[in-house]
Amino acid sequence: MDNALSRLDRLNLVGEMAASIGHEIRNPLTTVRGYLQLFQRKQMYAEHVNQFQIMIEELDRTNAIITEFLSLAKNKTVAFESGSLNEIIQALLPLLQADALHTGHELQTEMGEIPAIKLDKKEIRQLLLNLVRNALEATPPGGKVVIKTECQDGNVVLFVQDTGCGIPKDVLDKLGIPFLTTKEKGTGLGLPVCYRIVARHNAKLEVVTGSSGTTFYVKFKLP
Ligand code: ADP
Ligand code: MG
Repeated sequence: MDNALSRLDRLNLVGEMAASIGHEIRNPLTTVRGYLQLFQRKQMYAEHVNQFQIMIEELDRTNAIITEFLSLAKNKTVAFESGSLNEIIQALLPLLQADALHTGHELQTEMGEIPAIKLDKKEIRQLLLNLVRNALEATPPGGKVVIKTECQDGNVVLFVQDTGCGIPKDVLDKLGIPFLTTKEKGTGLGLPVCYRIVARHNAKLEVVTGSSGTTFYVKFKLP
């Protein structure tokens, strides 16, 4: 028997099963969350208001893990089209600005003159969200996060730059490994998803980090 082939088949099967189980788990979670919210709104069991909040937050965390896990599912189809990185950033900016306002950060953009590239819009949105959220989470309130695009040595480059705490060497060495997190409520799936998205786009993800902050670079090749 062709062992390599059967191993690959098995892997694909596990991927498909994980994806469908993820969807199946999400529906009941949504129902439970809905009832919890209803109880909370109606101030039922008012003496347990804190526990209700904790339950809702835990469900949201579970949902976030499923979302990230699904975007890791290997055989997901990607919809590549010619698109503008700047336009995607622009469209996502209100959401990112709201996040930054909420955490007390300044969010700046510096969009360069860049040509269209082949991309999957949804995936690039996810990539940006994950990188910017990490940047905000690593930066003390009052700090700055910059999203930048430019052409560099035949690449279109996206930068997400923060003035945060930097990445310690032991974490840096393992960056991108699933479930690696230094946060109390982290999933450790944000960066693995980023690496997967970047690989699908035939791009490169690089990081430069130090005590004055961290910059993630995504380098897309020009066609
Ligand atoms: P999570 O954000 O859920 O912890 P990620 O995969 O997004 O998971 O990130 C993994 C870890 O990498 C984080 O817990 C953090 O320690 C580190 N990290 C990622 N981005 C940054 C950043 N911009 N500055 C400092 N540390 C970072
Ligand atoms: Mg993250």
